[in-house]
Amino acid sequence: MNPPRRKPAPAARLRAFVPDALLPDAHTLLLEHALVVEAGRVAAVVPRAELHGIPVVRMAGELWVPAPVLAHAHLESWDAPSGLWPRETFAEWVRYLLAWRESPDRIEPERAALESLRELEAAGCGLVVCHVGEPRADGTFHDDLLGEEAPRLPEVLALPELFGPAPEEAPALLARLDARPPAAWGGYALHAPYSVSEELARGVFARSRGWSVPVSIHLGEHPEERALLACGEGPLADLLRERGRPLKRSRWPSPVDWLQEVGGLQPGTVAVHGTDLDREEQERLARAGVPLVWCPGTHLYFDRPRPAFGEDGLPLPALGCDSRASNTCLDPLRELRLALALVPGPGPRAWWRALTEGGARAFGREDLGHLRPGALPRILRMPWRPADDALAVCDRLSADASWHPLGPVLEL
Ligand SMILES: [Zn+2]
Repeated sequence: MNPPRRKPAPAARLRAFVPDALLPDAHTLLLEHALVVEAGRVAAVVPRAELHGIPVVRMAGELWVPAPVLAHAHLESWDAPSGLWPRETFAEWVRYLLAWRESPDRIEPERAALESLRELEAAGCGLVVCHVGEPRADGTFHDDLLGEEAPRLPEVLALPELFGPAPEEAPALLARLDARPPAAWGGYALHAPYSVSEELARGVFARSRGWSVPVSIHLGEHPEERALLACGEGPLADLLRERGRPLKRSRWPSPVDWLQEVGGLQPGTVAVHGTDLDREEQERLARAGVPLVWCPGTHLYFDRPRPAFGEDGLPLPALGCDSRASNTCLDPLRELRLALALVPGPGPRAWWRALTEGGARAFGREDLGHLRPGALPRILRMPWRPADDALAVCDRLSADASWHPLGPVLEL
């Protein structure tokens, strides 16, 4: 079995790289500067004239920006024919997704995961955080699938996703977790409030505190989830009944109330979607240290109303791409462009920051999403346009679909 391919840290020696321009963060554009790398980390960003004998690699015509971080995805379902599925209600879309998953007309999850990662690599993704809902869709691969020439793929944070609406399922699912504690920087995923019991959610959040690992959960995605939690009615309730799944025995006016009751309104929790949460609910999450992740491509797919993101004082969500079961492609820069088009108020700099530092910070990866000293030198190379300043670069990244990376992410 093969984990995602990352380049091993090189021996400690200084190397300097001089592109035409560097954007270490959304507010800083540097010309005639060098990125100095030592032992696989950015050691310094200094004017070229101050290099004093360090070997230089010149990268003419290039602008270097930190590689994007997608804070939510699923690697399975790469071949889902989701363009054909009805989606007037979320529940109806789920019916089509489940029917397709149960059919033989699909590639196996391991191969789908490989295709998803190949697509993300080509689009310039530096790290992708995934809910793993099907076996073998975690971004590790059998050697015979990879072939002799192992492809370079993005780094994956794979979070095993728990699904279990029946309270009596919880002990066995939690025992399975206890048998395999999370890796050094691992974590858990819960599917959603309507598809996990409170017993299961409480157990997962308690374990996440013990292990100090994150829990990612789809939360506040659509009014159907709210109707199920608040009244036990609506299209999702109908779907659960239809599939013989239990309905909730309690009621919660808000998905955030549900999260609080199961112990998840705490730092370490990451709430995915949040597009049905109002301003007050988003403020409650922010006060508790719970970041949001938004998937603009999925938002567009379902043609949802404009979310409250970006209103005065609310922190912006990080960005994700979900899966091709609810998106047309897996591409961080497209998600950025859609974020700005759907919610223009925050502006290109803020959305670029959301795609880079926002995603990294949501999962405690302070070494990604920027190119300041201490960062992993994981770089997206763009063609340099000499008249640009920092704002123009962020503008172009978030609005110009014809401005493509010069290749996959470069790791020095
Ligand atoms: Zn998702």
